[in-house]
Amino acid sequence: MLLKVINVITLIAFMNIIKYDKLSAKGELLMSKNPVLEVKNISMIYHTLNGEVEAISDIDFKVYEGEIIGIVGPSGCGKSTLLSIISGLITPSSGEVIVKGRKVTKPSKNIGYMFQRDHLLEWRNILQNVLLGLEIQNRVDKKAVEKAEKLLDTYGLGEFKESYPRQLSGGMRQRAALIRTLMVEPELLLLDEPFSALDYQTRLAISDEIGLILKNENKTTLMVTHDIAEAISISDRIIILSNRPAKIKDIIDIELTCPNNKWSPINCREAPEFRHYFNRIWKELDIHV
Ligand code: ADP
Ligand code: MG
Repeated sequence: MLLKVINVITLIAFMNIIKYDKLSAKGELLMSKNPVLEVKNISMIYHTLNGEVEAISDIDFKVYEGEIIGIVGPSGCGKSTLLSIISGLITPSSGEVIVKGRKVTKPSKNIGYMFQRDHLLEWRNILQNVLLGLEIQNRVDKKAVEKAEKLLDTYGLGEFKESYPRQLSGGMRQRAALIRTLMVEPELLLLDEPFSALDYQTRLAISDEIGLILKNENKTTLMVTHDIAEAISISDRIIILSNRPAKIKDIIDIELTCPNNKWSPINCREAPEFRHYFNRIWKELDIHV
């Protein structure tokens, strides 16, 4: 009986999914802290030989410590452009990006950026690849090597530290790429469709592992994906973008009742609320084929 009541309450709470302009309890709690990331009224127009392409129009949001934010939107709408602007790789036409109170004007070690392809260097072994970021900054010492070895151990790559990227599976390579990004201790992680080069089963498994790593290391993360289920399973909030030029259509708090109270992206796919979120996001995405 009690369980039933709880289920009904969850369902009612779910049906009133809190819109981002009204604050949820979680939202209010978060607002009491300083944001890690502030994206302030960003717009982006590319100037090309064939004229102007408006990629992003007036995007504005904040992200708080430890949050995993999923970003979904139709193909070509401006998702990668948004991440590149946040990383400091490209300058927006207007608006600004603030990370931990400082304006972003160029790429920095505070912001880790991981792409669809892992970009591991084939001629370096896994340990050397993982140390690359620190090596560029001239910060490799005994402590750094120990830390790299510990991360590789913790996340199942310990015995592959002397192996070369080609000897690893796609999923393991992606894990190594994440560890390389984590080594420089970024305050913000940007993941651009990090699993889309992998086959479906590997993708499920690795998104589960990577979700757990991000939560474990309490990393503030923005993850672009075109996979709605992946976004729901991993994110605390999901930003839905419109067709190009990308505008924010909605921001949805994700609250899942994961089986056995155990949070892991795969496990949380079994949550009773999952389907509702899926249908809602699918409708809002407004995909025409
Ligand atoms: P998404 O990642 O959502 O698929 P992108 O951010 O890659 O979308 O691209 C958004 C739009 O901007 C597309 O129409 C794309 O062709 C255009 N675009 C992206 N990069 C450039 C560029 N460097 N110069 C001109 N147009 C670009
Ligand atoms: Mg893209």
